[in-house]
Amino acid sequence: MVVWIGIDDTDSKKGGCTTYVAYRLIDRLLDEGYSLIGFPRLVRLNPNIPWKTRGNGAVSFRIGRGKGKSITVGERDGREFPSFGYADNDVDLEHVKEIIEEILEEEAHLSDEATNPGYVITKEKPERELYERCVKSVVSLEDVLRVLRRIGAVYRGYKNGRGIIGATSAISWEPLDRTFEVITYRRKEMWGRKREVDERSVIEMDRSIRSTFDNYDYETKRILITPNSPCPVLFGIRGDDPFDLLRAKDMISSEDYAGWLLFETNQATDDHLERKKISDIKPYESVIVKGLVDRDPFVIEGGHVIFRIRDDTSSIDCTAYEPTKSFRNIVRKLRRGDVVEVYGGVRSEPFTINIEKIRIERLARLVVKVENPVCERCKIHMKSIGKGKGYRGRRCGAVKGEEDARYEELERGIRIGFYEVPPSARRHLSKPLKRLNVPP
Ligand code: ATP
Repeated sequence: MVVWIGIDDTDSKKGGCTTYVAYRLIDRLLDEGYSLIGFPRLVRLNPNIPWKTRGNGAVSFRIGRGKGKSITVGERDGREFPSFGYADNDVDLEHVKEIIEEILEEEAHLSDEATNPGYVITKEKPERELYERCVKSVVSLEDVLRVLRRIGAVYRGYKNGRGIIGATSAISWEPLDRTFEVITYRRKEMWGRKREVDERSVIEMDRSIRSTFDNYDYETKRILITPNSPCPVLFGIRGDDPFDLLRAKDMISSEDYAGWLLFETNQATDDHLERKKISDIKPYESVIVKGLVDRDPFVIEGGHVIFRIRDDTSSIDCTAYEPTKSFRNIVRKLRRGDVVEVYGGVRSEPFTINIEKIRIERLARLVVKVENPVCERCKIHMKSIGKGKGYRGRRCGAVKGEEDARYEELERGIRIGFYEVPPSARRHLSKPLKRLNVPP
């Protein structure tokens, strides 16, 4: 028998990390004779909800008494974490509950106003539909509690109990697409100090292990595998192949770390996106929407670039924010009449799509007049009669139409195809073009 455990909302902006709580918890459960079944899971939920701490990530994992062969999916202070394919024997839920509460109360940032931890222990997995809703929209705690009561789960929410939403949804994820992330954890005495990770080793790893992604931003020359917060994570490497990630981890020259854990994740899958018509789009959703550009891009204070698209139902603004850097140069070249498909999260105030990537489907032909027609009799350029009214010979008075002037097609400077924000501006859930198998 396998028992699912889910946890969420244990950290604050000042530190902590839900994956670290899971790592500590797994270590402790191994001490108690339980085994990990399968990979632990790091599940990203709706990236647009306002009350997330950072990346809206929750964690789930399975425990049991493992049987058969195992692989190593983590390590803490020299002790390996084996993971088994299947399990037998019962798990004492009350005992597991005590251990979870002990670790959670020790590690969670309970005194922070915005931290509302929750955990769930269940033998029955909630339906995937809950994950679908939680990654795409806003889910109420009442809805989740109803699901938990129906499946007979053991659970607890601290403070406002909101963490239960993410904890349950993380268990309900069943991958249709998935990636992996190996996360290393710093020694406690190093928490909050500058992270020592050698830039050259990151670039070398990025270039040699091709199944990894988003390791380094070559445009801004920034290491992306280290977080910016004072949390216990030293670095996290993402990729398609779990075993490549272990090799990748060993290629990084860094300060000594206490341990690591390998997660199966929904990162880089585009699971949050839903194809929509503009009139159906609501705040906090993430959408794929196709439309005709009907207002040319313009730049607002802060360097954000905005344009508008419309379909047969309505119109909506789309924004490439300043952190998307050179991606804005592409967006700035769009013009009225272009047909695009925009991928992104929906903000409520102002109501706009925060663009994650864009597919330019058709570029409008833009022409400019370079010369008025020449009059055959006068032998010189004719004079415009007025906008859209044609031309008249300066001496003889002969008339010609607008179409007789000489036009040139404008060089657009962009091509049809996919464009994405640079890795430094990418959302956890956004699928990089590298994974979409389209040439960048
Ligand atoms: P980190 O990624 O660093 O762990 P975080 O960004 O995940 O932090 P949390 O502290 O987990 O932020 O806060 C997110 C909160 O929002 C959790 O309490 C979670 O249960 C809740 N939540 C997540 N998704 C939804 C959703 N779709 N609807 C309603 N509440 C949600």
